Amino acid sequence: MNFREIADLCAGYGAETAFNEPLAPYTSFKIGGPCDCMVKVNSRECFGAAVKYCRSKNIPYYIIGKGSNILVSGEGLRGVVILISSAFSAITVEGEHITCEAGAPLCRVCIAARDNCLTGIEFAYGIPGSAGGALYMNAGAYMGEMSQIVESAEYIDENGEIKEIALKDMDLSYRHSIFSEKNLPIVSVKIKLNKGEYDKINDRMNCLMDRRKNAQPLEYPSAGSTFKRPQGDFAARLIDVCGLKGTSCGGAEVSTKHSGFVINKGNATFEDVLGVIDIVKEKVYADTGVMLECEVLILK
Ligand SMILES: Cc1cc2nc3c(=O)[nH]c(=O)nc-3n(C[C@H](O)[C@H](O)[C@H](O)COP(=O)(O)OP(=O)(O)OC[C@H]3O[C@@H](n4cnc5c(N)ncnc54)[C@H](O)[C@@H]3O)c2cc1C
Repeated sequence: MNFREIADLCAGYGAETAFNEPLAPYTSFKIGGPCDCMVKVNSRECFGAAVKYCRSKNIPYYIIGKGSNILVSGEGLRGVVILISSAFSAITVEGEHITCEAGAPLCRVCIAARDNCLTGIEFAYGIPGSAGGALYMNAGAYMGEMSQIVESAEYIDENGEIKEIALKDMDLSYRHSIFSEKNLPIVSVKIKLNKGEYDKINDRMNCLMDRRKNAQPLEYPSAGSTFKRPQGDFAARLIDVCGLKGTSCGGAEVSTKHSGFVINKGNATFEDVLGVIDIVKEKVYADTGVMLECEVLILK
């Protein structure tokens, strides 16, 4: 495959491009070999053109936001990585609405909401993803999730056109969306919040951030909760009762601070993380009959 053409196409929009770019620095796990070509899309036009080009040439492509919910193979990825760059992350507040370009970091969206005395998105403070990645995953925490605040979004349809989609058509459920089901690129996300009081919003954000810091092994690279919540239970509780806390494989380990996290304790490989995941799934299934499902997306 020749990637010069797509690199030139995106460079024409002022986007940075790279060949054989290692992916580890673009993921919160700090794991992942090189991709053939990376384009750091910096605008909706560039994003649309990159997706359209890859589709028209049948070139495999992967969209990466903040890389906080993915585990990438040490072999890297063949094809094009479309990285949603920080240049494509504008946040616009209008009344009780906030429109976020795909790359807008959730923490910045939360701060913009607070600074405009808007309440409803405090739950997302501390989720280290982008607006696009959060909608794709229907990210959530502390009883909140994207489905409660999203009003509409823009995405790139099958013909490469940018279309608007309303909440009711997004099929949002636990860590699922129409975007993940149909692999639709998200261009922007519009959320609707409510008027609130700055101090209350600020206190709630700080309180939730403290809970995270106390409960989660944020000092180590990870992709957050490794497993989805099984029906009526918690993955971390099951992992605990099966005595799997601290189970390790090479540099990967079930965190002793929070069993729901597999962490990279230092130089963990893709295989190390998969090794821990397999051990956990097998033992939890054998002891409890529950088959855990990965929340982390495995890219290879
Ligand atoms: C320490 C830590 C804590 C976390 N806590 C939480 C939590 O409380 N709740 C929670 O839900 N998650 C949590 N996560 C997981 C993660 O932050 C979320 O899933 C987040 O929404 C992923 O966003 P991202 O931009 O990093 O997506 P990425 O990891 O870059 O991508 C995830 C998926 O979304 C797709 N994607 C990304 N951007 C787009 C786009 N613009 N268009 C189409 N597809 C796109 C990618 O192709 C990929 O399939 C945590 C992770 C970490 C490391």
